[in-house]
Amino acid sequence: MTESEIYFDNSATTALCDSAREKMLEAMDCYGNPSSLHTRGVAADRLLREARESVLSALGVRPSEGGALIFTSCGTEATHLAFFGTAHAKARRTANKLVITDSEHPSVENTARALERDGFELVRIPTKNGVLDEELLDRVLDRNVFLLSLMMVNNETGAQYDVKKAFRLAKMRNPEVITHCDAVQGFQKCRFTPTSLGADLISISAHKIHGPKGVGALYADKKILTRRNLVTCLPGGGQENGLRSGTENVIGIAGFGGAAKEGSLHLDADIASMRALRDYAIERLSPLELRLNLPAGETAPHILNLTLPDIRSETMLHYLSSKGIYVSAGSACSSHNAHPSSSLLAFGISAEEAGHSIRVSFSRTNKNEEIDRFVSALEEGIKTLVRIRHGKK
Ligand code: PLP
Repeated sequence: MTESEIYFDNSATTALCDSAREKMLEAMDCYGNPSSLHTRGVAADRLLREARESVLSALGVRPSEGGALIFTSCGTEATHLAFFGTAHAKARRTANKLVITDSEHPSVENTARALERDGFELVRIPTKNGVLDEELLDRVLDRNVFLLSLMMVNNETGAQYDVKKAFRLAKMRNPEVITHCDAVQGFQKCRFTPTSLGADLISISAHKIHGPKGVGALYADKKILTRRNLVTCLPGGGQENGLRSGTENVIGIAGFGGAAKEGSLHLDADIASMRALRDYAIERLSPLELRLNLPAGETAPHILNLTLPDIRSETMLHYLSSKGIYVSAGSACSSHNAHPSSSLLAFGISAEEAGHSIRVSFSRTNKNEEIDRFVSALEEGIKTLVRIRHGKK
């Protein structure tokens, strides 16, 4: 990044922070296999242990609680383990229904679809205007549900769903239900702990919190482990509590730990600064000829979605990119996908409008001056591109 560039695509991924970089550099020289019993192995294992403690502490988990953090290759793999690992556990008995929302990230939606193809019943709860349909949720939560998985923050609209309330309701209806939260966009953006959320399983990812790409984790509550409600999807050498075999990515995991530790040092200040940026962006964008897609309920501090007048998202994305300003035309995973984003459709945005929508997402390093430059470029872009579209000079 040069100083003149503006990076407003932090929901896609974030820049590496200093603590993550330092820990990764340290780990690069620590080449032992963490499973080896000699000094080199013990040194690598110590890095893993330190990272695990940092991430668990950032999640607000005390060692005495006995929950486990299973490091994976990404948030997607963490969710995969949560879904397939609970579906294939013998402890599941006969229940075969899983419940998700209609606006999940593809990592959840497509994993749930795979289970549906295997014969499981899949139910999606609507999230119109960014609010979970609690009435419908109440109706579908019966003894046949083995897994309720809800995302904390929608990656495209920034809607923050009331996961805590939904999980409480689910446990009341059926104490056997397993609750999973995709907190990839919520971790270090919203304040929560597994206990405050009532979540048995939580997926998180390093690269959304200024850590490296290619590392994620699944948090599993102690009860899930002792009742054998989760089985491995990757049998082998038995690493990660026997739940995810394969020699650990020590460098990436060390970076995850560094990022989590740095993020939790000033979490409240970071949340407040991202929220202030978002509020300022809303204020500056409101007079422009566009529509802000603001969720009706709670929102995350870092994501803003807007629909442009008569301009394709990709066209604006390239226009802004030519000015050194980086935004997104949807989630990173769907930017190569010609279909309109299912999150935006679920929100109530038409397929046509979804093709005209862009997402702006902030991090703790962004500044108000960058919003000023972005708003001016967007305003100029709207005028220029609408003029070109209408064939005027
Ligand atoms: N869940 C949400 C809400 C996301 O936004 C993303 C990534 O964009 C993921 C899951 C997947 O995370 P990863 O890229 O680590 O697989």
